[in-house]
Amino acid sequence: MSEYSPHVSSEKRFSVPDIFGSQVFNESVMRERLPRDVFKSLRKTIEQGRELDITVANSVANTMKDWAVEKGATHYSHWFQPMTGITAEKHDSFIAPAAGGRVIMEFSGRELIKGEPDASSLPSGGLRATFEARGYTAWDPTSYAFVKDGTLYIPTAFCSYSGEVLDKKTPLLRSMEAINTQALRILRLFGDTVTSRVSTTVGPEQEYFLIDKSVYEKRRDLIYTGRTLFGAKPPKGQELEDHYFGSIKPRVASFMRDLDEELWKLGVLAKTKHNESAPAQHELAPIYETTNIATDHNQLTMEVLRNVAARHNMAALLHEKPFAGVNGSGKHNNWSISTDLGKNLLEPGKNPHENAQFLLLLLAVIKGVDEYQDLLRVSVASAGNDHRLGASEAPPAVISIFLGDELTGILEALETESPYNGNAKTSMKIGVHVLPTIPKDTSDRNRTSPLAFTGNKFEFRMLGSALSIACPNIMLNTIVAEELCQFADELEKAKDFTAALGKLTRRIIKEHKRIIFNGDGYSAEWEEEAKRRGLSNLKTTADALPKYIEKKNMAIFDKHKVYTNAEMHSRYEIILGTYIKTLSIEATTMIEMAKRDILPAVSEYLGSLAGTIAAKKSVGASIACATETDILKRLSLMQEGAYKKLYELERAFAAAGELDGDIKKQSKYYSREVLKAMDSLRSIIDELEVNVKSDFWPYPTYGEILYSVV
Ligand code: ADP
Ligand code: MG
Repeated sequence: MSEYSPHVSSEKRFSVPDIFGSQVFNESVMRERLPRDVFKSLRKTIEQGRELDITVANSVANTMKDWAVEKGATHYSHWFQPMTGITAEKHDSFIAPAAGGRVIMEFSGRELIKGEPDASSLPSGGLRATFEARGYTAWDPTSYAFVKDGTLYIPTAFCSYSGEVLDKKTPLLRSMEAINTQALRILRLFGDTVTSRVSTTVGPEQEYFLIDKSVYEKRRDLIYTGRTLFGAKPPKGQELEDHYFGSIKPRVASFMRDLDEELWKLGVLAKTKHNESAPAQHELAPIYETTNIATDHNQLTMEVLRNVAARHNMAALLHEKPFAGVNGSGKHNNWSISTDLGKNLLEPGKNPHENAQFLLLLLAVIKGVDEYQDLLRVSVASAGNDHRLGASEAPPAVISIFLGDELTGILEALETESPYNGNAKTSMKIGVHVLPTIPKDTSDRNRTSPLAFTGNKFEFRMLGSALSIACPNIMLNTIVAEELCQFADELEKAKDFTAALGKLTRRIIKEHKRIIFNGDGYSAEWEEEAKRRGLSNLKTTADALPKYIEKKNMAIFDKHKVYTNAEMHSRYEIILGTYIKTLSIEATTMIEMAKRDILPAVSEYLGSLAGTIAAKKSVGASIACATETDILKRLSLMQEGAYKKLYELERAFAAAGELDGDIKKQSKYYSREVLKAMDSLRSIIDELEVNVKSDFWPYPTYGEILYSVV
C-alpha cells in the first residue's frame, strides 16, 4: 500500500552471533556475572530440579536486575501461560523508595521465585472456586529470563495455592519428568549407565498470513474473530501453485528480516522462512529445542510476529482458517526423544543392539498413539482447527502413523519372523539382526499423514497455527511414558532379555499395526478403511472433548502425575467453554455484519438500480431497462433469502443460549446447528457479493485482502 514506509532499512547490517541472545539472561551471562558458588547451585537447580536456596535466589535476582536495567528495563514481569492459550503478564517496576524522596531499583529473591498476580479473571474451570481464590506464579529456572520492551520477563508456572495447575507449563514439565523416568528405565535395560536425563525435543514450524493493515482494519470479522466470516472466492486463489516457495516480495522480506532479528535477540533459533501454498501465506521454522523451551519460544514467536507485522503496517493472522477456499494455517510439531549426552533415541542405530532400542521406542509411540488416538485428537481441538482437519488441506480427523515402506516392511518381517525383503538370509529378530539402513529421504514425502515418522523424529501435523504446542506435547510425552513404563515392567522381570524383547515386539506389532497407514490420508477411501480398522474419527471439538475425561484417559495422567482428575475436569470445561464462546462471538459478529452493513448495502444498490430504472422510464417508454430490472428482481430475491437465513441464524443462536449450563449439549448444538446456520447465511451473502457493484460492498473482498501486500 502506498502509505507504507518501512521502519527499518533493508541496508541495516548486524552480526548475528553478536545479537543472538543479547536480550537473554542465559548461561553465559550467568557464568560471567554470578558469583561462582551461586552459579553452581543455580545450575544444579536447572539440571536436576533441586530447590533453590533463598540466599542464592537473592543473589541471582540482584544480578538479573542489574543486567536488565542496563538493557533499559524498568519493570519485571512473571510471564506465564494460562489456559487462554496465549501468555499473560503483569508488570511491576523495580522502584523502591529511598531517603530524600528518591527511589532505588530493587528486586529480591522472593520476587523472583514467587509472584502473586491477582489473576482471578483467568480461566480456572472451577478449580479456584472450589479450593482457593488466588493463584501464584513460580519461577521456571529451566527457561531463561529475557528483556523485551523495557521489561524483564521471568518464565513462570501458574498454580493455585492448593497446588492445582492453572497453566500449560506445569503439566508440560510434569510430562517431561514422566517420560524421563520411564525412558531411563528402558535405557538401563539396554545397559546404558551413563545417560542421566532423557528429554523430548520439539521444532514447531509456524504458518501465518500477512495482510495489509488497511484491509485488516476494515474487516470486523478479522478483528473480532481472526477469520473472515464472509467472502466470495477470488478469481485467483492458490490454484496455480505459484506462491509456495515463490520469491519473497521485498516488503515481506523486510518484515521477515526484522522478525528474525527480534527473535534472535530473544534467543529464538529462527532458521527457515518461505512462502506457503495460499497467497499471502508464509512459514517460519526454528531449530528444535527441549520441549519446554520450544513451547515458550513458540509463544514468543507468535507474539513477536504480530508486533513486527504491526510495525510494518501489516497484520499477521495466526488463525487456522482465516479464509475459506484457500489453505488454512497449521503448525507442524516435530518431536523426538534425546539424552543429556545429545543422542537422539529415535535415530535408528547402526548395530543390532542400538536398533533394538530404537525399535522399542518406536513401538512405544505406535502403541501409545493407537491406544490414545482420541487424546491426540483432543490435543489439537479448537473451533478454528475444526475447519482444517479433514478438509483435504490438512490431515483428517483420523489419527494414523506414517512409517514409510522400509520401516513398515521391517516391522512386518519382525512380526512374522520372516526374512526382510529377501535381503536377510535368516528370519528377522529384534536384538539379533542388523537392520537394513532406513533412508531418511524416502520417509518424508507423504504430507497427508497426521503423524509421520521422518527418519529420526515424528512430525505431528494436526496442530492449528494459533495453538499453544504445550497440550499436544503433554499428550505425546505422557502416552509414550505410559507405554515405556509397561515395556519396562515386562522386560525388567524377564530372565532372557532378548527372548522377552522378541516376544513383546511381535505382540505389539500384531496388536497395534492398524494405526500404521502409508497411503493418501486425504482420500475418501482412507476414511472408509479407517472405519473398518476401528480407528476413531472425531470430527469436531464438541465430539472430541468428552473423550478427554474418559476413565481410561484420566488414568494415565493420574498415574504419571501429570494431571489429577480434578485438573482434567477443569481443563475439559475450559476448552469446551472456549469453543462455545468462540462460536458465539463468531455468530454475533456475523449477525452484526449482515444486519448493519451488508443488507443495508444491498438495499442501497437496489435503490440506485431502481433510481436508474425510474430515470430511464421518465425519459420515455422506449428506453430499455430490462437489465436493471432483471438485476433488481434477482438481487431482491437473493436479499430476501439472506434475510431469512439471518433470521434462522439468530434463532439457532438464541436456542444455543438456552442450553447454558450444559456445556456438552451446548457445544454439540453449536457444532451442528449454529455452524450450519452460519454456513447457509455465508453462502448466500457470498453470492450477493459477486453481484453487487463493488463500491457499494462494505468490506474489502478476498482478492483485495489476499493481494494487499504488494
Ligand atoms: P522439513 O520437515 O521441512 O523437511 P526438517 O525435517 O529438516 O525440515 O526439520 C523440520 C523441523 O524439525 C525443524 O524445526 C527442525 O529443527 C526439527 N527437528 C529436526 N530434528 C529434530 C529432533 N531431533 N527433534 C525435534 N525436532 C527436530
Ligand atoms: Mg516438516
